[in-house]
Amino acid sequence: MRQRPFGGIGSSVPVIGQGTWFIERGRRASAVGALQRGLDLGMTHIDTAEMYGMGAAEEIVGEAIEGRRDEVFLVSKVLPANSSLKGTIAACEESLKRLRTDRLDCYLLHWRGKYRLDETAEAFERLKEAGKILSWGVSNFDEGDLEELRQTTGALPACNQVLYHLQERAAEHAVIPWCEAAGVAVVAYSPFGQNQFPAADSAGGRELIDIANARNACPRAVALAFLARRPSAFAIPKAVGPAHIVENAAAGDLELSDEEIARVDAAFPLGRRPQTLPML
Ligand code: NAP
Repeated sequence: MRQRPFGGIGSSVPVIGQGTWFIERGRRASAVGALQRGLDLGMTHIDTAEMYGMGAAEEIVGEAIEGRRDEVFLVSKVLPANSSLKGTIAACEESLKRLRTDRLDCYLLHWRGKYRLDETAEAFERLKEAGKILSWGVSNFDEGDLEELRQTTGALPACNQVLYHLQERAAEHAVIPWCEAAGVAVVAYSPFGQNQFPAADSAGGRELIDIANARNACPRAVALAFLARRPSAFAIPKAVGPAHIVENAAAGDLELSDEEIARVDAAFPLGRRPQTLPML
């Protein structure tokens, strides 16, 4: 599993991690086992949020990482509605309880809400001083939001987590270049578009299969390797299916050639720049 620096925070993080949205919907034992298997395979970046299952996903993560906390790069998120100074601190403490840990590696603002960015950033800094979080970041921020954050707080987030998959490459227009120039990690969420992965009989699907076959890999791994091709990039697929976990982890060792990247790029064109950054 390849690792790389996560923004400016000095930690090395695996390029492929594990998402947890809707992980509480299946059998708890399967979900816990899936996350543990992912850890065994090196997918030690686990992404969760207070929003997911209204805390249920964090509880599953807490069970999965019991006794293995030091292996994990643990990320959770505060809801915009809770992102006041006091609300952020209280939300973090609740997340820590559900996760059965004393610290998060990175704590994110899930998306922008009504609270001022400097107020949320102040809460993050206080949590950092108290050792409850080691770093903080944002999610669903466009380049204007990022610039405003930098100007109002003088600080940079460790990461910006954005919607990014083969059929939704809007982040490449301005957000990813902004992050790269500033040294901010880009984390691709919904890297398979949830359930929108290109069908095997589509033109793009056939191209992925061709590339995958030549590399003794699978099409999903090719897609993840494409999304994580830049030095600032990470991807966090969610998987409970045992075979899915193995396939996704394999992407962490798959580095595409320039020619393979060009083929994926041609099969799934960037498209026009939308007016607003898409999000789920
Ligand atoms: P996703 O990872 O794009 O897709 C998840 C779906 O793909 C699941 O149905 C999963 O099935 C299936 N899958 C996974 N690996 C597979 C494989 N190798 N072959 C076939 N199917 C596979 O969707 P997502 O959960 O929306 O995104 C990933 C994570 O990003 C989330 O879980 C969450 O942590 C984060 N996220 C963040 C935001 C935000 O606003 N910051 C928004 C959305 C998501 P099984 O589970 O059955 O294996």
